Amino acid sequence: MKKIFLLFLVSFAFIHIQAQDKSPKKMPRIIILATGGTIAGSGESETKAAYTAGKVPIDDLLNAVPQIHNYGKITGEQIAQIGSQDMNITTWLKLANRINQIFKDNLADAIVVTHGTDTQEETAYFLDLTVQYEKPVVLVGAMRPSTAMSQDGNRNLLDAVMVAADPKSQDKGVIVSMNERIFDSRDVTKTSTTNLGTFQSRNFGPIGLIYDGKVSYYYKSLRDPAKKFDVSKLTSLPQVEIVYGYADASPLTVTCLANSPIKGIVYAGMGNGNFNAPVGKALEEAVKKGIVVCRSNRAGSGRITLENEVDDAALGFIVADDLSPQKARILLMLSLSETSDKSKIQTNFFEY
Ligand code: ASP
Repeated sequence: MKKIFLLFLVSFAFIHIQAQDKSPKKMPRIIILATGGTIAGSGESETKAAYTAGKVPIDDLLNAVPQIHNYGKITGEQIAQIGSQDMNITTWLKLANRINQIFKDNLADAIVVTHGTDTQEETAYFLDLTVQYEKPVVLVGAMRPSTAMSQDGNRNLLDAVMVAADPKSQDKGVIVSMNERIFDSRDVTKTSTTNLGTFQSRNFGPIGLIYDGKVSYYYKSLRDPAKKFDVSKLTSLPQVEIVYGYADASPLTVTCLANSPIKGIVYAGMGNGNFNAPVGKALEEAVKKGIVVCRSNRAGSGRITLENEVDDAALGFIVADDLSPQKARILLMLSLSETSDKSKIQTNFFEY
C-alpha cells in the first residue's frame, strides 16, 4: 500500500513539474511595437479597396488575434500611427533606440514591429544596421486593411509572433515575416502595389517559411555587419537623395542637387548602374563638390560591379553592390554619419 502511495506521489510530482514547464512564465516575452500601416488600416466597406492606413490602435490589433497569447507573453506599445509612406528618419531613430533600450533592460526576448508595407523593407534594413542585439526583431504588415474581407493582417501577425517566439530566429538579424514567408531585411523588397504576395527577395529568395504553426529556416545571410551603427546620440542623418536614370535623361536633377547642401547621391542607374554622358558629367561635378555619389540600379535585382562600363576610380564614384537604391541610401546616410572616407564607405557596401 505504501509503495502504491509513493508511486502516486512521484507521478503527481512529475506531472506537476511538466505542467510548470508549460506555464506562461516560460513563454518568450514579446513586445509588439506598432507604427501604423494597412495592418492597422480601416475602410468603410469589406469589399472596397479604399481605406486609411494606421487607424486601428495597438490594443485593438492584439485583441483581434487572441491566438498570439499561445506563443508568448505579449504586450504592445504604440510608437507611431502612420501610413509607412510617411515613415521618416526621426521615427527610425525612435524605433531603433526603443528596441535597443528594451533589449538592454532585458524587457523582452523578441520584438515584433507592425508596419506599413510601402517602406517596410527600408525600416527593416535601417533596424538591421542599428539594433545592437541578436534577439529576434520581426517586421510584419498587411496588404488588406483589418476591415476587409479575407484580410491578411491577423494571419500575418500570428505568423510573425510565431517567428519571434521561435528559438531558431535568434541571430538572423532583423527579418520580415509576410504571407507565410520569412525574408532577410537586406534583400526583401515590395514588388507589387496590391498583391498579397508582394514581398520577395529577388536575388536570393526567402530565408524561411511559416506553415501550420511551424517555422522552418533554409539559409542565413552572411551579410551581418560585425559592428552596428550607434544611433543613440543622433537626431538626424546626413542628407542623401536618389536620382533615377532613364533614356535621354537631362542632368538637371543632379545639377540642382550638386548645388544644394546634401552629402550624398544614390544614382539608380540603367543596367549595371549606367548613365548617359550629360548625367555622368553632372555626377562628376557633384563629386568635385564633395558629394558622395553611389551607383545603384533600377533593374530590381543584380549587383553593380566596380569598374565595369564606368571608370569609378577616375570619376570618384562608389557602388551599391546589390542593394536597391532605397537601401543604398540608408547605408550611405549611416556611413556618412561616421565617416566621409569613401574607401571605408565602399567597404561597408561590400560587407554590410
Ligand atoms: N500605404 C500603406 C503603408 O505603407 C500600405 C500598406 O501598409 O500596405 O502604410
